[in-house]
Amino acid sequence: SGCVRGNTTRANVKRKATSAPAGKKPTAKQQKLVPLKEEKKERAGGWLQEKLKQRRTEKKEMKFNKKRLRFVSDTEKIKQGSEGVLYWMSRDHRVQGEHTPSSKTIRHLVCLNSFLVLLKLQDVIDMPISGSSLLNVRLKAQNFPHFFLSSPFFTSQPVDWDKTLVSLQVDRTVGEPEWATPGTKGGIAMLESFIDVRLKLFDTKRNDPNADALSHLSPWIRFGHLSAQRVALQVQHSGKKAGQSVSSFIEELVVRRELTDNFCFYNKKYDSASEWAQKTLEVHAEDNRPYLYTRQQLEEAKTHDKLWNAAQYQMVSEGKMHGFLRMYWAKKILEWTSSPKEALSIALYLNDRYELDGQDPNGFVGCMWSICGIHDQGWRERAVFGKIRYMNYKGCTRKFDVAQFERKYCPKKL
Ligand SMILES: Cc1cc2nc3c(=O)[nH]c(=O)nc-3n(C[C@H](O)[C@H](O)[C@H](O)COP(=O)(O)OP(=O)(O)OC[C@H]3O[C@@H](n4cnc5c(N)ncnc54)[C@H](O)[C@@H]3O)c2cc1C
Repeated sequence: SGCVRGNTTRANVKRKATSAPAGKKPTAKQQKLVPLKEEKKERAGGWLQEKLKQRRTEKKEMKFNKKRLRFVSDTEKIKQGSEGVLYWMSRDHRVQGEHTPSSKTIRHLVCLNSFLVLLKLQDVIDMPISGSSLLNVRLKAQNFPHFFLSSPFFTSQPVDWDKTLVSLQVDRTVGEPEWATPGTKGGIAMLESFIDVRLKLFDTKRNDPNADALSHLSPWIRFGHLSAQRVALQVQHSGKKAGQSVSSFIEELVVRRELTDNFCFYNKKYDSASEWAQKTLEVHAEDNRPYLYTRQQLEEAKTHDKLWNAAQYQMVSEGKMHGFLRMYWAKKILEWTSSPKEALSIALYLNDRYELDGQDPNGFVGCMWSICGIHDQGWRERAVFGKIRYMNYKGCTRKFDVAQFERKYCPKKL
């Protein structure tokens, strides 16, 4: 591309958000793209944090639908001398603000009138999914009023995070992004700025990588710092003026996300392409590939395609690639590597190494959708892709100002 320097895997460089979804220590107002005068008057920054704090301290009786309780263990009595219960948390498997939609293994320890009960809050969309059941999930989500119930607040014990962080044996060669403050507070600030500023753009601008219209909440949802249910409730409650954007957002947050969870959990062949896709990819296995790149070249954003390089750079430098570009990015890996198997392996490697929201069912299904056509249909046949849906550079130029994005994310310091 002529504008890539250095090695994207090089490390310990703080990953900065040039698009700045939020500042270093983001307050809701710092995260604003375009401050709204009337909203400024209406509520000061931090209103959501305040609201939740207030609700936590209120001694109001919480309405609770007991149908959503299910014992997950035969052991209803806790052994004398037991000191704790292991709480295995991943993504929406969490205590705060959650009815654990789609969590199948979690046990909650809840203290009810001084009796200890091991229970699981009943699943929301608990269904085996095979093939393209997007419609089923959508219908079930719409018809499942339990999902939109307020959820319990719990208080937690302080944790020495510095000590915990030092003790972790993790890959520290990927820099830490500055725009995202980890933890629930950071997530709530981001949610607040989404409701105040970006939500109204979501319906019309979510596919424009130059517009700051997405929620940016995936990292907090991924790590269980924010509950998807809490986000859905809050957006429905506070985003009434945002019109169609609310339902478009719920479609992503609830329907698409639940589809990936249920697909990966229930489908024994979740890592295989559908028969039609396998066939078509096999037929085109020997097709001539005009460009072939190694994993390293891709990782270092050294392709001929400035848009692809920019997307890769956005992911490496900020830890979050725009959602629209993720599709283009993965499809080009299919086009520029020697086999679909290699393409999937590289896409998952890069996604899970650099995306803050990586290593989760959304990413797995996203890569499988792009490369192996899951939850999709066959399209017009063409070289390399066969009937897998194709995307190209020209198509992107029709959707958004590609040159603007390339200028902004032309890799500079890597
Ligand atoms: C190749 C590829 C890789 C992807 N990798 C990941 C990944 O590693 N982790 C991840 O969370 N998402 C992934 N996605 C899905 C989607 O791109 C991201 O969830 C989204 O861009 C996150 O940004 P956001 O929170 O600002 O999104 P918003 O558009 O504001 O959406 C809000 C939430 O809805 C959910 N969501 C949105 N789009 C999807 C989708 N297509 N499928 C399932 N859930 C969705 C997420 O929980 C997201 O946080 C991937 C998609 C593709 C095509």
